[in-house]
Amino acid sequence: MNTKEKRKLLDELNNQIRTCERCTLSVTRKHALTGEGDIDALIMFVALSPGEKENIQNKMFVGPSGQVFNNLLNKAGIDRESVFMTNLIKCMLPKNRKPKADEIETCMQFLGEEISIIQPEVIVPLGYYATRAIIAKYHTRPSILSMSFNSINGRLLYSDKIKVFPLTHPSALLYNPSFEPDTVIKYMKLKRFL
Ligand code: SF4
Repeated sequence: MNTKEKRKLLDELNNQIRTCERCTLSVTRKHALTGEGDIDALIMFVALSPGEKENIQNKMFVGPSGQVFNNLLNKAGIDRESVFMTNLIKCMLPKNRKPKADEIETCMQFLGEEISIIQPEVIVPLGYYATRAIIAKYHTRPSILSMSFNSINGRLLYSDKIKVFPLTHPSALLYNPSFEPDTVIKYMKLKRFL
């Protein structure tokens, strides 16, 4: 698929996302966020859901977590414009509560379509929930799900369908800044895919 074809499909998909009312998160959101970045990217980041600022401004990673994310990318030598970023769940979770299984299941259909269109070399789920959902859906070895997030964080998980490289969600560093040096080292490993 060439870039023009990808853009057309992504625009159609984004229109569906913006008006989606498939789950009750549509009632409390201001915006359903669509993915952003290079549609020919080799790396696709998948965060959990928009935060408060993202929900208001209708843009990915513009809140406090976004500042941490930008800092991690800078230190890892990765240009934000060269990657694609999206969320597992496109609408904000009220008060940052945990996602429900049916919300993940319903909204992940959009993520699946984004993956089909972008066709990234590697999918980078950020944090526990995105990692768990993506491995459960796409990885041929679901036994990985029995492993702790820490034991697969920063490890490339091959599958005959897909490559998954889980990383720490930037928001974790807001609560534990001491994680930063180790997290930067793991983000730096992404350069091998560029
Ligand atoms: S979270 Fe996803 S499925 Fe639910 S309303 Fe928003 S876009 Fe639709």
